[in-house]
Amino acid sequence: MTPNNTILTDDFGRKHNYLRISLIEKCNLRCTYCMPADGILLSPKKDLMTADEIFQIAKTFVANGVDKIRLTGGEPLLRKDFPEIIAKLASLKTEISITTNGILVDRHLAVLKQFNVQKINLSLDTLVASKFQTITLRNQFEKVVDNLHLLLNNDFKIKVNVVLIKGFNEDEIIDFIKLTEFLPISIRFIEFMPFAGNEWDRSKMVSQSEILEQVNTHFLASEIQKLDEEKNFTAREFKIKNYLGSFGIISSITNPFCDGCNRIRLTANGKIKNCLFSNAETDLLTALRNDENIDDLIRFSIKNKKKVRAGMNTLQDLNNPVLNQDNRSMIAIGG
Ligand code: SAM
Ligand code: SF4
Ligand code: SF4
Repeated sequence: MTPNNTILTDDFGRKHNYLRISLIEKCNLRCTYCMPADGILLSPKKDLMTADEIFQIAKTFVANGVDKIRLTGGEPLLRKDFPEIIAKLASLKTEISITTNGILVDRHLAVLKQFNVQKINLSLDTLVASKFQTITLRNQFEKVVDNLHLLLNNDFKIKVNVVLIKGFNEDEIIDFIKLTEFLPISIRFIEFMPFAGNEWDRSKMVSQSEILEQVNTHFLASEIQKLDEEKNFTAREFKIKNYLGSFGIISSITNPFCDGCNRIRLTANGKIKNCLFSNAETDLLTALRNDENIDDLIRFSIKNKKKVRAGMNTLQDLNNPVLNQDNRSMIAIGG
């Protein structure tokens, strides 16, 4: 079938060719900005997509024009059947990447190489072991750093996701950028976003302009290079002259990228979300299990996508608990 992208094109002309699939709701870390302090109500196992159901749903998206799939979670590498999932998805001949906290990377290295999963986003919010424990509530700093080097030694393309939180890690912005002097990685500073139970408020967020202020204070203007933005970019990218790596800023709060949004999300229990901030979900898994055609449901979800952040147009809207707190926690969406 020739992908014509019609069911994946919304009323604003945005084509959704990028599917992010959450494989699991569980995680081996407890990042406080992601997982609520009293945990989340996990879906019963029977309600989660099996490897084959993930494949069937992904296949429908690929037939309609999706050419990029990212696997996320929870922690995607916790799925015991991760090798089976990758093997099935690889047969779709589309780009596959993952977002992981890195802890189980060594266990799955061979399968990642075998199925050509080259692009890996690894989350690491601090370069200080004791602070890692504070933010993730687990003692796995060394393991994550070792696995980052393991990936680099095996030529994976690595982006390091850093969620910035005031009073916690904004003093490490320059240290993270300095890492790119000798490591060919891209650091992505992410503005802290509000989700159910993560106690977000504007004052905890480090904005794009505050990040750039630090960069401009520390480096000479002649050293800071702005890189070209990719199509459907999500980060404004920069590089310090003669450094091997680069850095970018994902400013979903102060400067969202909605105009070029090409992303659709599939949760581990088989529901699609047309926007990270959307409360509305469309249940594909039940339809698939009932042998119904899921194309119409996908069309319906895309058609209802709002122009900006699920209709939360302003920072006041984002601060409004009535609008933002019905959304799932990030751990159950998949980032
Ligand atoms: N467990 C994997 C990981 O941490 O990379 C994949 C899932 S995690 C939900 C995906 C990404 O979402 C991570 O990079 C994480 O830092 C980011 N994230 C989680 N909660 C966030 C929040 N409240 N604001 C901004 N980014 C967040
Ligand atoms: Fe787990 Fe990733 Fe959420 Fe941290 S950000 S709790 S590693 S899902
Ligand atoms: Fe896309 Fe929603 Fe993110 Fe905007 S806020 S870029 S519409 S997912």
